[in-house]
Amino acid sequence: MFRDVVEDLSVRSRSELRSYAKTPEVSEMQHLQNLLAKRLVSMGFMQVHTPTLISTSVLDKMGMDIDHPLRRQVFYLDDGKRCLRPMLAPNLYVVMRRMARSIPGRFGIFEIGKCYRKESKGSHHLEEFTMLNLVEIRPVDRPETRIKDLARQLALDVSLPIETTTEESDVYGRTIDLTVDGVELASAAFGPHPMDGAFNVNFPWVGIGIGLERVLMLQAKSNNIHRHASSLVYHNGTRMDI
Ligand code: ATP
Ligand code: MG
Repeated sequence: MFRDVVEDLSVRSRSELRSYAKTPEVSEMQHLQNLLAKRLVSMGFMQVHTPTLISTSVLDKMGMDIDHPLRRQVFYLDDGKRCLRPMLAPNLYVVMRRMARSIPGRFGIFEIGKCYRKESKGSHHLEEFTMLNLVEIRPVDRPETRIKDLARQLALDVSLPIETTTEESDVYGRTIDLTVDGVELASAAFGPHPMDGAFNVNFPWVGIGIGLERVLMLQAKSNNIHRHASSLVYHNGTRMDI
């Protein structure tokens, strides 16, 4: 019985791998990134790319001082002077401050890139995951209204029934979470925010950070994020080690 189930899964995986090879396409992750990047560009957001290695001192600026629970999740390098970024926000703070000096009025930026956190939790957490973080600078609408608008647009693009709820975050204080069936897909925050001073930011903004492997997991109606991770075991959610 058990052997039959395993055999069925192997047959299915093998057939999926053969069909990927027959009609090659970009990976499901790249496809999702392309879709979201194109949409954001059409909405007036520009894509930026910032370093994955960051100075540990910026975590202090993010209010994550040495006793903060998230600090225990950080992968350190160079005797702790640098680390692998656990989030995109500190870099985007710098980019938005610099760009806002030259660009008047409303504008938007986004980055899609890897983030790293030591995680002990199981099926919804990876140590290496892909975040999409968008920031709109000087939004026209009220922040909550704008975040809900952006969430609605995102729900259409990813075909998921996204709900919004207000949460308290360890880093950002009050945030708006985007969830699907109770699973967190994204967290949104907005400024003016107490953290802005440390980054010399003195204009309003709204930001949303979305975990892209979580999107793929929810789209596949799976509850195992590892299938959708950068992996030596899975390709597009299909097992390769059969
Ligand atoms: P959670 O409460 O689920 O641990 P978080 O609130 O710590 O997540 P945020 O800092 O809000 O995470 O990051 C924004 C998004 O990035 C999350 O909503 C989630 O989709 C994704 N994300 C965060 N940590 C991980 C992880 N370890 N693995 C995969 N995705 C993650
Ligand atoms: Mg969150």
